[in-house]
Amino acid sequence: MRQITVISGKGGTGKTSIIAALSSLADTAVLADCDVDAADLHIILNPDVQRAEEFSGGRVAVIRKSQCTQCGACRELCRFDAIGGSLAIDPIACEGCGVCAAFCPEKAITMMPKLSGHWFVSETRNGPMVHARLGIAEDNSGKLVSQVRNEAKQLAEARGLDFVIVDGPPGIGCPVIAAIAGVDLVLVVTEPTLSGLHDLERVLATAGHFNIPAAVCVNKFDINPRNTTAIEDLCSRQSVPVVARIPYDRSVVAALLQKQTVLEHEACAAVADEIRQMWGRISALTAGKGSVA
Ligand code: SF4
Ligand code: SF4
Repeated sequence: MRQITVISGKGGTGKTSIIAALSSLADTAVLADCDVDAADLHIILNPDVQRAEEFSGGRVAVIRKSQCTQCGACRELCRFDAIGGSLAIDPIACEGCGVCAAFCPEKAITMMPKLSGHWFVSETRNGPMVHARLGIAEDNSGKLVSQVRNEAKQLAEARGLDFVIVDGPPGIGCPVIAAIAGVDLVLVVTEPTLSGLHDLERVLATAGHFNIPAAVCVNKFDINPRNTTAIEDLCSRQSVPVVARIPYDRSVVAALLQKQTVLEHEACAAVADEIRQMWGRISALTAGKGSVA
């Protein structure tokens, strides 16, 4: 089983459209939507949820009033101002550090698991998908990303499927590292803008730091040929293959509005053709079958 994570460094590069299209091509794959802070793959693929589970990403302090003498020590110690004047704990402000519980003289505070979100196993028209929703103001997305990836991997193994395709989160922080750790290939979707080039450098450095093979897809390559050349030069210097140059096409937005992948929308033929070729190159790369064009 091969794991491929698609990342972009930032939003707006067309990553989700490309992953949705890959799901049409990879008929023996599990999709893992690890962009848990802003999941949007479900908008195109309209998953039918088969299983929903709670996700506990941290802890929250709870005071047992029967034991509390209202000495106020916990409120003074809390660096996050999570304990109010009436000794009520604000579950959003509480960071779960446990200091109040450790120093309460009456042992009246317990640290309880905190419901931080949900994860789901669903069926889509393009195969099974594991996805998640993080609660408002929750920030344990790295842990939730790992949960989604583990579930997707187990599902692929249980069904004998060949690929796990991971929709990675933006940035280069903990959630991204959780999304790329141990995968066979990181596919970076970029666009020919200066910010795209800058983000590409950062995500390639992150993948390189963890010794994970990378490949690059330049989306809308024809909107700025000079920046596309700069991207290709960067990739060449770092021996990173460019596996697709996808042309700009207004009908990609039309496909999105109709909740179709670009392979399902008849007006996106040129884009679809390039993505088909990219899938062949990715498959060859992850199978260790040699070079790409
Ligand atoms: S430190 Fe313990 S006893 Fe004191 S106010 Fe807080 S919960 Fe109550
Ligand atoms: S666990 Fe930490 S953040 Fe939460 S109320 Fe106690 S001291 Fe404050």
